[in-house]
Amino acid sequence: MKYYSTNNPNHKVDLKEAVIKGLAPDQGLYMPERIPVLPEEFFSTMHELSFKEIGYKVIEALFSEDLTKEQIKSLVDHTLDFDAPVVEVEKDVYTLELFHGPTLAFKDFGARFCSKMMSMLQEKHGIKVLVATSGDTGSAVANGFLDVDGVEVVILYPSGKVSELQEKQFTTLGKNIKAIEVNGVFDDCQKLVKEAFLDADLNSKLLLTSANSINIARWIPQCLYYFYAYSRLPKEGKKLVFSVPSGNFGNLAAGILAERMGLPVDKFIAATNVNKVVPDYLNGAAFLPKPSVQTISNSMDVGNPSNFFRLLALFGGDEEKLKEKVQGCFYSDESTKEAMVEVKKETGYTMDPHGAVAYLGLKAFMKGHPSAFQGVFLETAHPGKFRSTVEEALGEKVVLPERLAAFMEGNKKVETMENDYLQFKNYLLA
Ligand SMILES: *Cc1c(COP(=O)(O)O)cnc(C)c1O
Repeated sequence: MKYYSTNNPNHKVDLKEAVIKGLAPDQGLYMPERIPVLPEEFFSTMHELSFKEIGYKVIEALFSEDLTKEQIKSLVDHTLDFDAPVVEVEKDVYTLELFHGPTLAFKDFGARFCSKMMSMLQEKHGIKVLVATSGDTGSAVANGFLDVDGVEVVILYPSGKVSELQEKQFTTLGKNIKAIEVNGVFDDCQKLVKEAFLDADLNSKLLLTSANSINIARWIPQCLYYFYAYSRLPKEGKKLVFSVPSGNFGNLAAGILAERMGLPVDKFIAATNVNKVVPDYLNGAAFLPKPSVQTISNSMDVGNPSNFFRLLALFGGDEEKLKEKVQGCFYSDESTKEAMVEVKKETGYTMDPHGAVAYLGLKAFMKGHPSAFQGVFLETAHPGKFRSTVEEALGEKVVLPERLAAFMEGNKKVETMENDYLQFKNYLLA
């Protein structure tokens, strides 16, 4: 299978180049040149398969030209190492819990798949993955890449500017995960990484890559849990709607990829906080990126969503088709907190602020279509990750899962560095 750039369909590369480069040279996003459609029989018998068995079939359909059966099995086994249960919250309203991975957020799926795939595609010298982080990306990538052969991860983060729990999640692992505490801000870290990618001398000596969130190896595996959720729903002859809390829109685009592969999804809800560039677009405005605004669902504080052109590409560039399938909506912090309180009171279920935004979008849609639909909202993070917001809204304690609490015990191991490119380069070469 070849992958084309959304900026130029004639620019095509093979899987390895798409994964190692991440972004096309013309800044476009890579997309598979064909979207395989799975046979009807797969969907009718899916409920008998495990999450991993579903994963083998879907990944095989996409990657069988490029990877062996054994490689596909080991990729899926490594990625789907934890469950994604569908939990009934109210009648016809379900949540898909995507927070049972090592860092308690759905980004664990993409990070784990990406690390394993890079390790398969690299040749004998090994790859260095450079990551600048303001918190969450560092922890998902670090934990996803831990112990993966032939891949070393170097994480740069601004000193004193990430939460203690976030810092612990990527500075205590050791092994193939190196952390650099930079005396500067996030933008300095990002600049150091960019400079390294542009340094021809450095790139002639090392194989550098980025594990960026737009990388197909992080994007594609996210379609798997949509298939799995479908297989676990009672259905009862109803239509199906997924509501996806969105920032860069990779998660939603992966849901649409599943639909394009044949998964019977009738509607998607693109739910955001007040960073609502995409809902505005879906409701008729032009696509107009804006500076982001800070909210309590801060992993969705994105003003220029990087996967937007993937949404369009999935419909062959047809805006009308996209708008027919995907409905946009957005919510304030106020409404989000009210929803968290209301659902807790009525059902006992604790939502995190991101899931709560998706819940609101789903409820608004269901109200307009009484009893015709079953709806699933995606819970993208454990409420313990946004503990102070959740505790403040609910007025009660949130218990941290043991595996998150365990990070707090580890010892921080870092290199400290000035905001100085030469120092960084010498570190990489040493
Ligand atoms: C990253 C993230 C999102 C947004 O996902 P996109 O794929 O960027 O739309 C939503 N919720 C949480 C908790 C996240 O970490």
